[in-house]
Amino acid sequence: MVYLHSNILTDVTDILLDIDGVLLDLSFDKKFWEELVPQEVSSIKNIPIDEAMRDVLGASKALYGTLPWYELSYWEQKYGVNLIDVARENSMYAKFLPGAEATLKKISASNKRIIFLTNCDSRLLKVKANQVPFMQYADEWLSAVDIGIVKEEQDFWKSAFNKFNIIPENSIFVDDNIAVVNSALKAGIKKSINVTMPSGDLSVQNQSEAKLSFKNIEELFRAI
Ligand SMILES: [Mg+2]
Repeated sequence: MVYLHSNILTDVTDILLDIDGVLLDLSFDKKFWEELVPQEVSSIKNIPIDEAMRDVLGASKALYGTLPWYELSYWEQKYGVNLIDVARENSMYAKFLPGAEATLKKISASNKRIIFLTNCDSRLLKVKANQVPFMQYADEWLSAVDIGIVKEEQDFWKSAFNKFNIIPENSIFVDDNIAVVNSALKAGIKKSINVTMPSGDLSVQNQSEAKLSFKNIEELFRAI
């Protein structure tokens, strides 16, 4: 961990936050993509679950970090499945990360603008938002899938900065994906922070190579 000024929000006007793995527990996405989607594919295609798992995992690895990987419709068309129904039926697994809601309340009281920037498909995001009350903390939000450019690409940042009049020098950005943190850094957000504990049950943990990394937003914003 690198020591930041005790008030990390000095000179910051905008707090930019990823959603999954930063606010919401990544265990939902892990379950959705690694268990529920292969189960659905197995049942619709009438193939063994092992085969469906191998197929989804293989396709997923090939597309990791690109737009289709995040697009629900890509997977729905590829396998002829309805993934929104699957997400709705299992939405009870979506939840806040430990300490995330209290931290959101705290930063909401700081009079900074809060903007959620996510690669999550907005269709899936709506299912999560119906289950977990997190959208009420956002002044603005943007899904990369809606504009067709993911956070890994520099054009995403150009779009987001223009859309919301964001000044990168006056912003802080938090994400659990190191490739996205590096992309935000390159776009000019010096306070781009990687969180290393995106799931409450520790089923996912990152070994961060970022200059600025914290376990979670609770630890990051503890001093404010
Ligand atoms: Mg994330």
